[in-house]
Amino acid sequence: MATIDKQEKETLLIALGGNALIRKGQVGSIEEQFENLKVPIRQIASLSRQYKIIITHGNGPQVGNLLLQQESCTEVPRLPLEILVAQTQGQIGYMIESSLDTALMELGVWTKQLLITLISYVVVDEKDPAFQNPTKPIGPVLSREQAKDLPYPTREVPGGLRRLVASPKPVTVVEKREIKSLVDNDFIVICCGGGGIPVIREGRAFHGVDAVIDKDLASAKLAEEIRVDVFLIATDVEGVALGYGGPDQRFLRHMTLAEAAQYEAEGHFPPGSMGPKIEAAVQFIKKRGNRAVITSIGAIEPAVAGTAGTEILVDVKF
Ligand code: ADP
Ligand code: MG
Repeated sequence: MATIDKQEKETLLIALGGNALIRKGQVGSIEEQFENLKVPIRQIASLSRQYKIIITHGNGPQVGNLLLQQESCTEVPRLPLEILVAQTQGQIGYMIESSLDTALMELGVWTKQLLITLISYVVVDEKDPAFQNPTKPIGPVLSREQAKDLPYPTREVPGGLRRLVASPKPVTVVEKREIKSLVDNDFIVICCGGGGIPVIREGRAFHGVDAVIDKDLASAKLAEEIRVDVFLIATDVEGVALGYGGPDQRFLRHMTLAEAAQYEAEGHFPPGSMGPKIEAAVQFIKKRGNRAVITSIGAIEPAVAGTAGTEILVDVKF
């Protein structure tokens, strides 16, 4: 039966970091973003022969640029953050989808492969303490002069200041059934962009809120809810390191849940960067018990094959 054939392929969820589109130090022109995407997208196209694929992605630099445009223009009404997140799902979804289409064509598998980008909401709890304590840096690094009169909190980073927004925990992905159904029907689905459009429930309805959900945590929630087999987080470092950036920096190939908890307590994983990736991988492993790997954008294929990146393990260490 056709449905049995469909179930033979395992499901792979790939969470692309912001650097898949804009590398650190680049201005982030559309040409640069399309060029940068070629590296992960060619690998994903190739992997689509063996796996059912779901792609999620960050939107930090893009949503920040849209915010900056809002603040520098007084002639049109300002848009709330939820609308800007929706805009980035459209723009980045379009870039990923068209790049993937090209890559699939180059591989000669495009005629068999269906693609779709889905606008996705993610429910958050309006009582989430994150709303009282914004922690998520978004947008470009601002000079002290630029940041002087801004009506929102900022944080010092190397070279200046960045805007901070609340980053509540994802509770559930609203479109999980649609996503599951599309994946079961062999679509490559691009969804939960920028961690999803944050919404709170009001009875049976939803409404958007001013926040940005961490894309790694939203991806882990989706991976759990639609029962993904392999969860891969692709970023701009080769994996998880101990003593990152220090003289004794050491990248790990494997890390057990117990080790992850220990290293976390020792302060190896800062919030807002490696912290949520570890939390996301650990959550997925605890809920699903399958594979979770953190790797670089350039090493997605070897990481899936088990020869690159850092894999989080239940308790066995090799
Ligand atoms: P993304 O856009 O992919 O989510 P982030 O900047 O949020 O990327 O997170 C990746 C960054 O985490 C790396 O570039 C690195 O600077 C930082 N980092 C912090 N601690 C560690 C660690 N222990 N191991 C590896 N990278 C780390
Ligand atoms: Mg990040």
